[in-house]
Amino acid sequence: MNIQTHENTLQDIIGHAKEYGFVFPSSEIYDGLQAVYDYGQNGVELKNNLKNAWWKAMTQLNDNIVGIDSSIFMHPTTWEASGHVDGFNDPMIDNKDSKKRYRADQLLEAKAEEYTLSGDKEKGDALLQEMGRLLGAEELEAVRELIISEGIKCPVSGTSNWTEVRQFNLMFSTQVGSVAEDSSTIYLRPETAQGIFVNFLNVQKTGRMKIPFGISQIGKAFRNEIVARQFIFRMREFEQMEMQFFVRPGTQAEWYEKWRDTRLKFHKAIGLPADKLNFHVHEKLAHYADAAVDIEYQFPFGFREIEGIHSRTDFDLRRHQEFSKKKMQYFDPEVNPETGKPFGNYVPYVVETSVGADRLFLAAFSQAFTKETITDGDNVKERTYLKFHPALAPIKAAVLPLVKKDGLAEIAQEIADSLKSSFRTVYDDSAAIGKRYTRQDLIGTPFCIAVDFETKEDNCVTIRHRDTTEQERVPISELKERISKAVAVERILEEI
Ligand code: ATP
Repeated sequence: MNIQTHENTLQDIIGHAKEYGFVFPSSEIYDGLQAVYDYGQNGVELKNNLKNAWWKAMTQLNDNIVGIDSSIFMHPTTWEASGHVDGFNDPMIDNKDSKKRYRADQLLEAKAEEYTLSGDKEKGDALLQEMGRLLGAEELEAVRELIISEGIKCPVSGTSNWTEVRQFNLMFSTQVGSVAEDSSTIYLRPETAQGIFVNFLNVQKTGRMKIPFGISQIGKAFRNEIVARQFIFRMREFEQMEMQFFVRPGTQAEWYEKWRDTRLKFHKAIGLPADKLNFHVHEKLAHYADAAVDIEYQFPFGFREIEGIHSRTDFDLRRHQEFSKKKMQYFDPEVNPETGKPFGNYVPYVVETSVGADRLFLAAFSQAFTKETITDGDNVKERTYLKFHPALAPIKAAVLPLVKKDGLAEIAQEIADSLKSSFRTVYDDSAAIGKRYTRQDLIGTPFCIAVDFETKEDNCVTIRHRDTTEQERVPISELKERISKAVAVERILEEI
């Protein structure tokens, strides 16, 4: 028998995600809303399982990390202090002929990649460096000239008829208050991190937290992305899973390394293979950071960021201290061996880990999506299935009576009912058993439990394993324990 595995395209993945209830375009009956998506009946389970694994990896595995759930709306001054009002911009440029809008930096990055791929890495790097310099100095006219001198054309119109480059703030704003006159502008948070910083003292004091400690949060974030393509990779409404780790100044480098490595382990533990994961160290750092690295996954469209690990210094807490006039300090009673006195009061430094739940979903889904051609002599079969880590699979077990009659349906239903309280189980008695196996393969159910005539004699059922299609005979009394063990989130946590 020969099994040939096919390469997947993003189109295959989008199609499968929609057809099997994972991801739908938002408000599709009105032709959708660009860069906004809804999770379907299977998608929500997968996403919840990913969030649960992350949450437990943070709060359950670490005594010194606790979680919060802060609101999406925050006092508008938050965003002045964080630098988002003035600095959360992307440079945009329009093509006058096609009326299409682009990110100026992405046009130049694509050109640099073209140079690199054609063997002239030096030229590609030089272009990136020049772009970084011009954007850093806000020399937007020169950025436009660079786009023109590089001969970059709009892929739609094919012309270089470009407008000027303008900075575009990515924050969505709205009004709070019942009448327009009373209203004031507030923002939909573009990151969850600030909700953690403003609660730093609340958590530290009420939880009697001692440095080093972390605060984690999962929640929605909103960015008015200029170019939103690649499915759920870049959305205008998305979900972040962030953890801010507060440390003593001077110790940030070691914590940064620790979190970089721990987070990589997490991605491997959920089933992303090592050769499809990559660190991309930032050469050019944001003004507040002293080190930054992205964890990238190899999507069908190339290596792209799924998570950022940033050593953010004391920038955020210091800025909130300045704008709120409230002290954002921690008293460290530990004795400094160099001075023989306590470290005393300081504004802690922060190491951040920030991963997008949706990008992680896309990575896990792309990785799981498997299309095979199985050749056995003259017999050629196509098989598509989702090879999720069992702890991530939306449905853990499907109970399938071979036929409905002769009491098999009742036995199968009884088994399904007995498993329901332990893990997500479905019962299915429609169509031939082979078709029902395929149905479960297509949504990634790791275990199918077949009830046949022998079951009535021996109280055993057949478990069919998704990835190998191998079958084994198991007593009904052992099902709950065996499957519970295999699908438990512990399987992931133990690997971190
Ligand atoms: P990019 O460079 O791809 O725009 P970023 O560097 O702006 O990402 P961060 O601000 O570091 O991203 O956000 C942390 C994480 O949040 C990212 O690693 C990503 O997983 C997720 N994320 C950011 N923007 C989006 C978006 N528009 N849609 C989905 N996920 C996003």
